[in-house]
Amino acid sequence: MAQSGANGGRRGRTEWDVVVVGAGLAGLACAHDLLADGLSVRVLEAGDRVGGRMRTDRVDGCVVDRGFQVFNTAYPQVRRRLRLRNLRLRAFTPGFLVHTGNRRLRFADPTRAPGAALRGVAEGLAGPRDLAALAALTTWDALAPAALTARRRDTGTRRALRAAGFTDGFVERFFRPFLSAVFLEEDLETSARFFHLVWRSMARGTICLPADGIGAVPELLAAALPPGTVALEEPVTALTGDGVTVEGERTVTARAVAVAAGPATTARLLPGLALPPYRTVTTYHHVAPRSPLREPTLVTDTRRRFLNTCVLTELHPHHAPRGHALVATSVLGGDTPGRERAVREALADCYETDTADWDRLTARTVEQALPAMPAGMPLSRRTRLGGGRYVCGDHRATGSVQGALASGARAAREIAADLAHR
Ligand SMILES: Cc1cc2nc3c(=O)[nH]c(=O)nc-3n(C[C@H](O)[C@H](O)[C@H](O)COP(=O)(O)OP(=O)(O)OC[C@H]3O[C@@H](n4cnc5c(N)ncnc54)[C@H](O)[C@@H]3O)c2cc1C
Repeated sequence: MAQSGANGGRRGRTEWDVVVVGAGLAGLACAHDLLADGLSVRVLEAGDRVGGRMRTDRVDGCVVDRGFQVFNTAYPQVRRRLRLRNLRLRAFTPGFLVHTGNRRLRFADPTRAPGAALRGVAEGLAGPRDLAALAALTTWDALAPAALTARRRDTGTRRALRAAGFTDGFVERFFRPFLSAVFLEEDLETSARFFHLVWRSMARGTICLPADGIGAVPELLAAALPPGTVALEEPVTALTGDGVTVEGERTVTARAVAVAAGPATTARLLPGLALPPYRTVTTYHHVAPRSPLREPTLVTDTRRRFLNTCVLTELHPHHAPRGHALVATSVLGGDTPGRERAVREALADCYETDTADWDRLTARTVEQALPAMPAGMPLSRRTRLGGGRYVCGDHRATGSVQGALASGARAAREIAADLAHR
């Protein structure tokens, strides 16, 4: 049994107050809060490292996340739990570039860079009406308490944007390409309440990436747990009346079990639990002989050929061997035949460069990347299932770092309250 951290005393023990199944963000947050309440906790993780969907690999001298994702410093759970300095974050350029088919337009946030935003008007990206609506929306979302936003009447994001005064053209040029990558759906049917919370975090925080890749976030959370709390390569195969079974043979006994195992395993361990459908994304990593864009900026595409692309080495030059550039590009769905070639052609157009000599480094498909979050969905769901069983994960809240951590925190609160009375 591998251990996360040097540990001796916990190895032989088989009885705990709580067993947490899964060391993704939700499981780590849950474990952390339970320990703070004085309970004994064992986290059983099937993989050889913590992090679940937030993992980083080294491939041919490159630092490669398992699916491109960004880190937002304004999420309340992030601020509560992480010393951001330890992540050695580098920020993306505020705003982003939109590729419209024949040119790249720069979108700048009118509340942070009004001059640049006005240039966007001149270039035809936004009209004065859209810019005014954007300034009003961003100011409201940044300043209104999150609790107030969470209580707003819900609708789909596209409808909410129309109601906020945006023209359809601006929604298509600006919001749709950008938000498709956030929601992993292109129709903007996702809950407007969730959109406003995401927009709030973007307005208040910074979009960035850790120097060691996105996997550094769960690694930092795990490092804050007492050594030996997490047991790696311990796949839970069943829940029993008083604990769990590991690899079909060993039993670990606990007064409560929290399943934080991601959607596929959760469905298996807790049959009958309603889970939302999940969305799939593929990220291609290419190594280029030189940087096609000399700035750390997200680029979106109005023609739906990709969700977004960016030159990661403009953020962290050491993410590729010296003298090379690492480009990450995400698309909805899987890595179907011919797709990478089509993406490479789109990138040639977008970066206005020849991509024929780019090396395809990886294609990472995450089949259950984010839960669907339709209008009307609750932002936080009950984690208590009864009989000493609990469940947490982004499917119990929102498909985000904030949602996964918050669901773990909620499960810990419910477990601690229940165990105090048993
Ligand atoms: C490509 C991609 C891009 C994303 N982009 C963003 C973004 O930009 N911003 C944002 O906020 N969020 C983003 N997210 C979402 C965010 O990463 C997830 O919501 C979050 O990481 C989910 O954490 P979790 O703990 O709920 O589940 P998971 O990360 O899935 O963790 C589940 C854990 O359980 C373990 N496990 C599974 N089966 C077993 C078993 N039988 N026994 C023991 N352990 C088991 C798994 O190995 C895993 O470690 C993105 C996700 C992906 C995939």
